[in-house]
Amino acid sequence: MKKGLLIIFSGPSGVGKGTVRKYIMDNYDLQLTYSISMTTRLPRDKEVDGVDYYFVSKEEFQKNIEEGNFLEYQEFVGNYYGTPKSKVEELRNKGKNVFLEIEVKGATEVMSKVNDDRVISFFLMPPSIDALEQRIRRRKTEDESVIQERLQKGESEMSCASNYDHVILNDDVARASQEIVDLIKKKIRS
Ligand code: 5GP
Repeated sequence: MKKGLLIIFSGPSGVGKGTVRKYIMDNYDLQLTYSISMTTRLPRDKEVDGVDYYFVSKEEFQKNIEEGNFLEYQEFVGNYYGTPKSKVEELRNKGKNVFLEIEVKGATEVMSKVNDDRVISFFLMPPSIDALEQRIRRRKTEDESVIQERLQKGESEMSCASNYDHVILNDDVARASQEIVDLIKKKIRS
């Protein structure tokens, strides 16, 4: 059986990763499984434990680090985020295509650790920095210092976009998402 594809998806905070991700995950033909990360961040409105993230305490996260349970983990603006290792491997070995939405440093680590050719990576770019700021502010979930940190982080993340297989401009959600869907389909067939 062909090993499942590993899809790595990154982009700066506020670029609209969640909306694009939903569009891609809803594409039935692709049969994607979303890798649910573990985080120490508190849930935002409407986020559900075990669906959006596994929300855990710092102690629990630390325990998972010590037990070697992460494929990668990173600190991002004061919180920890990690990709559970066993799930990703288990699913890919069963031929399932796994979708990771992670930040740049974690993505780079995954790219170097997973060295089979069934990996495809995407970086989602905003049409402008202003568009990013507007989106982060509109969601009203972070205070000013966190907004500023996320914006700075976003700028440094964008400078790493060329490490990805494909840089996708999010000028229009449906168009950008479809571009990604088509590239994933092509990779699945290869
Ligand atoms: P947010 O707090 O906005 O949900 O996520 C902050 C950043 O962490 C986003 O760029 C998101 O893609 C990233 N992220 C989510 N889960 C993981 C993970 O398991 N590992 C890493 N390295 N980054 C993650």
